[in-house]
Amino acid sequence: MTTDRGGDVRLSGISKTYGTFTAVHPLDLTVPEGSFFALLGASGCGKTTTLRMIAGLEEPTTGSVLLGERDVTGLPPYKRPVNTVFQSYALFPHLDVFENVAFGLRRRGVKSVRGQVGDMLDLVELGDFARRKPHQLSGGQQQRVAVARALINHPQVLLLDEPLGALDLKLRRQMQLELKRIQTEVGITFVHVTHDQEEAMTMADQVAVMNGGRVEQLGAPTDLYETPRTTFVANFLGTSNLVPARFDGRSGDDLLLRAGDAPLTLPTARNGAAATTGPVLLGIRPEKVSLVPATDAASVPDGRNRLTGTVRATSFIGVSTQYVIDSPVCAGFEVYVQNVERDTRLVPGADVVLHWNPAHSFGLDAAQDID
Ligand code: ATP
Repeated sequence: MTTDRGGDVRLSGISKTYGTFTAVHPLDLTVPEGSFFALLGASGCGKTTTLRMIAGLEEPTTGSVLLGERDVTGLPPYKRPVNTVFQSYALFPHLDVFENVAFGLRRRGVKSVRGQVGDMLDLVELGDFARRKPHQLSGGQQQRVAVARALINHPQVLLLDEPLGALDLKLRRQMQLELKRIQTEVGITFVHVTHDQEEAMTMADQVAVMNGGRVEQLGAPTDLYETPRTTFVANFLGTSNLVPARFDGRSGDDLLLRAGDAPLTLPTARNGAAATTGPVLLGIRPEKVSLVPATDAASVPDGRNRLTGTVRATSFIGVSTQYVIDSPVCAGFEVYVQNVERDTRLVPGADVVLHWNPAHSFGLDAAQDID
């Protein structure tokens, strides 16, 4: 399928204020042409408002929206080469699947719609459902009709506002892969709003994590997960252990830290904190931490960061076992150990040593609120 992709979507200083409340603070953001881009954040962070400003459904208080070189800020929604898929599907209940998808073509006066609608139904794998009415379809199928209907006029950008929010978890996961496949096939820019970090990580090439009307961090899912730059991002995408520490010098490419009495190291390249003196939070993901009984402490390899602690709780969560450890410097430290038999020596009350490869840790400003 060929489509005019129309260039990057560029938001330049756009903001939205309702009375005295600022829903979106001035925002500069570029969505690369042809990418699957996610706006991710908790309820009320401003992601839908941002999407609606791209659609033209909301007028920005300041700033402009550009599609390629074209400034569309003043254009009404129907004059923008953009279409939106909503969580509610908004299908026409009295029209069958074929006519729902054909609607945009017929409205433009296209006479021969059969071929284009057929291609679009094939794309969303609903070729056999053309004559069904929406109420005869599952939620996932209805959502695919909504996507086909939104794509039929070849928009340059497809906006998706929590499109999978009404589906159960299993179907949502299937549809995540489906949407990704469809986006790859049509090659147009998708901007997807979600509060579900797994959804954003699964589908998007790039994710903008929003908080309080601002973008906290923008990047590829793996970069955001491995190198979060704020405590909000560290905790919103998965779980992070954040160990309060202080900078205590340098050694080669490493920063030396102290957490209580424990000496720790952090590769300089993985320090997201602004300063390299004073307090810092050392972050480490639970699945990057190893755990041994205190009696096996001698087995911990050199060059590892280590902390002593006591097991507070353990729980088996399928592919991994979760341990919660209280250490003198960090209460409630989480450790996930995958695919191994539970060690009967690591029971609540047991003294343990936690250790990790410093290359997997990251540093964050200590002055931030920890959510
Ligand atoms: P959700 O996932 O719940 O939709 P969101 O991140 O998409 O949340 P927005 O819908 O963009 O958030 O709303 C951002 C903030 O702006 C919220 O606090 C919301 O109450 C406020 N807001 C949105 N629309 C209006 C409006 N028309 N008038 C006043 N405040 C509004």
